[in-house]
Amino acid sequence: MKATTFTFAIERSDPKSGEAPRVQQYEVEVTEGMTVLEALLRIQAELDGSLAFRYACRGAVCGSCAMLINGEVALACRTQVNGLWTDVISVGPIPNHRVLKDLVVDLGPFFDKDLAVEPWLQPADPPPESERLVVPDEWAEAEPYANCILCASCHGVCPVPERDPEYLGPAALAKHYRFLADPRDAADEERLALVDGEHGVSACDTVWKCVRVCPKGVPPTKGILATRERMETR
Ligand code: SF4
Repeated sequence: MKATTFTFAIERSDPKSGEAPRVQQYEVEVTEGMTVLEALLRIQAELDGSLAFRYACRGAVCGSCAMLINGEVALACRTQVNGLWTDVISVGPIPNHRVLKDLVVDLGPFFDKDLAVEPWLQPADPPPESERLVVPDEWAEAEPYANCILCASCHGVCPVPERDPEYLGPAALAKHYRFLADPRDAADEERLALVDGEHGVSACDTVWKCVRVCPKGVPPTKGILATRERMETR
């Protein structure tokens, strides 16, 4: 298979070392269909074992490999190098997160925000003997929000966290709406109170960047606006 050489300009940093962040370049032979993740794996295996990045499933299911690729937040596992149409590929950590090393960021605060919206079903009736079934038509509103893989891409492109680090963010607010819209859930009032503060739905700038970047078609801004509407009409 014909290979072409690409230059990968990767942001390297190790805050624990005290050294200043730098950009390091690697020349990689790229074959047709090779993804950025595969290129990073090749760099790590053949050129520089110290390069740190996060990945798991390699199939856009786990959400681990979100990063900045040529200035756009994307999953490395589903970004083909040839499709980027540049000879030099810049790669950096996902914005709005603290860098732990190279392309690995601290997702702890991001997951804390997910937990803060109580992402579990809170029905009024006692548990049934088997599953809590839902009629498909009644599930349609919540369904897109249930597809979130917690990749944090939306948080990485959101303009709000830079000025308000406590902002719950698009992923947590999308998860919140997933339960608010679930016909089996009965905790609407309690749920609305969870996102009613200055760091909740009112902080969203409604720029829709989160919707455009989401690799799973989750529309956080739409859910945030629907939540605001519920607040205004309760
Ligand atoms: Fe990723 Fe989309 Fe979930 Fe945001 S809403 S964390 S972009 S899957």
